Amino acid sequence: MRTQVAIIGGGPSGLLLSQLLHRKGIDTVVLERKTRDYVLGRIRAGILETGFVNLMREAGVADRMDKECFVHDGTVISHGDTQFTIDFKDLTDTSVVVYGQTEVTRDLYDAREAMDGTVIFNAENVQIHGADSDAPHVTYTTDGDEHRIDCDFVAGCDGFHGVSRQTIPLTVRREYEKLYPFGWLGILSETPPVHDELIYSCSSRGFALCSMRNENLSRYYIQCSLSDSPDDWSDDAFWQELKRRIPSEYADKLVTGPSIEKSIAPLRSFVTEPMRWGRLFLCGDAAHIVPPTGAKGLNTAASDIHYLYNGLIQHYLDGDDTGIDTYSEKALARIWKAERFSWWMTNLLHRFPDQSEFDLKMQAADIAFLRDNRAAQTVLAQNYVGLPY
Ligand SMILES: Cc1cc2nc3c(=O)[nH]c(=O)nc-3n(C[C@H](O)[C@H](O)[C@H](O)COP(=O)(O)OP(=O)(O)OC[C@H]3O[C@@H](n4cnc5c(N)ncnc54)[C@H](O)[C@@H]3O)c2cc1C
Repeated sequence: MRTQVAIIGGGPSGLLLSQLLHRKGIDTVVLERKTRDYVLGRIRAGILETGFVNLMREAGVADRMDKECFVHDGTVISHGDTQFTIDFKDLTDTSVVVYGQTEVTRDLYDAREAMDGTVIFNAENVQIHGADSDAPHVTYTTDGDEHRIDCDFVAGCDGFHGVSRQTIPLTVRREYEKLYPFGWLGILSETPPVHDELIYSCSSRGFALCSMRNENLSRYYIQCSLSDSPDDWSDDAFWQELKRRIPSEYADKLVTGPSIEKSIAPLRSFVTEPMRWGRLFLCGDAAHIVPPTGAKGLNTAASDIHYLYNGLIQHYLDGDDTGIDTYSEKALARIWKAERFSWWMTNLLHRFPDQSEFDLKMQAADIAFLRDNRAAQTVLAQNYVGLPY
């Protein structure tokens, strides 16, 4: 088989790139290790920046999102029993939207199918060959049969555990990582959200987040120990702990119910440099991870796709390689700022096992400054709604 761009990974990054390029007449093949149902079963991000929304519109897959998403003009931050709102709209004239990653991925799969885009599921043992040559190719197996795709470029959109990053030699690749000493226990429940905005809560018992997907689907998280397993937490124990960590005004009216999904995500900051090696380009979680506190994971994946998509259009339609030659530099400049923001939000709102009394006072002062200072709120809002591409 031959294609112009071989895309490894059929998550949101790979599908969005494939859909955008197809609409410009650029041929792609997406290789996905799992099944479509498996990918759609992963409950992950839910807050989309305007840049992401605009890319979905450009990809022609925004109809359902535009109808069903919820626009959020602000968010609540609480510390103990005090709380305040960061008004994104007032501070930046921009909002974010709530629309689940599952829905984004479903819309992209439907669009790929409607356009007869090639997505190969259950692609095992994917390997990238000759990425540093002028003629790369990718091999993979399905049902025990080996296949080969010759291509001009390879887009590595295969997430943190994928093969693409590992293809870049260690002599070229440099990795930066920070692991946090806790995780997030998250549940999804078919209950109305406790509030119409997200609530980020810093409490003496640890962090909690009240989020949502729609009017009758709520997503709640509590900071937990890395040694915990979801089975250690009954639904009842989760709800009780959540209520202890959020202001009583919300705890009193929280509607609880059975969880329909429960999982623990460890928190990690990670960046690999460079994001290009020869004809291989890394995008999304394949190149970087953020702790979810700033809602940046999916949104940083989208900004990578924006830079790569535009670089590839320039290459194919104008014969100009400037975009692909500056891809890594441009993508990383934005990524590092999102990394800083996510790290800062995580430090601001979580309890760390080694925090001293002094550290706790610093954290309280930081939050009080944010509550009372419009400039500090503006900085948070600018980062949360997304820095410009
Ligand atoms: C548990 C969890 C919770 C999260 N919660 C949030 C959140 O609340 N907010 C937020 O902003 N972000 C969140 N994120 C991050 C966000 O989901 C990711 O940033 C986003 O999924 C990145 O998209 P991606 O397409 O780059 O990678 P992925 O979504 O990881 O997709 C990569 C795809 O590549 C496939 N693949 C992997 N290896 C291979 C291979 N060798 N060959 C072929 N295919 C392969 C995988 O099966 C997968 O479908 C969360 C992430 C996790 C893991």
